[in-house]
Amino acid sequence: MFICDKCGQCCRNLHKSPIYDELHNGDGICKFLKENECSIYETRPLVCRIDESYEAFFKDKLSYEEYIQLNYECCKLLKEK
Ligand code: SF4
Ligand code: SF4
Repeated sequence: MFICDKCGQCCRNLHKSPIYDELHNGDGICKFLKENECSIYETRPLVCRIDESYEAFFKDKLSYEEYIQLNYECCKLLKEK
């Protein structure tokens, strides 16, 4: 299971991938991020859902453990910037 510390950095760097284009207005900050929390958490899109995205896009390419590790590495890079 992926453990998120809710730093919010992923939701502030959406400009780094076109798959998030509909979620921000060009500044990379999600329009649904309110006080560092997702205001639509229960209905957030598939691209924001770790486990569901694995099932939809990656399960034929990576093991779940590899996928989670890559996610942690991305989190680390976002926090260092
Ligand atoms: S960058 Fe990683 S740890 Fe921070 S909020 Fe996003 S998923 Fe969670
Ligand atoms: S919809 Fe929610 S989880 Fe997805 S980027 Fe926006 S604030 Fe983050």
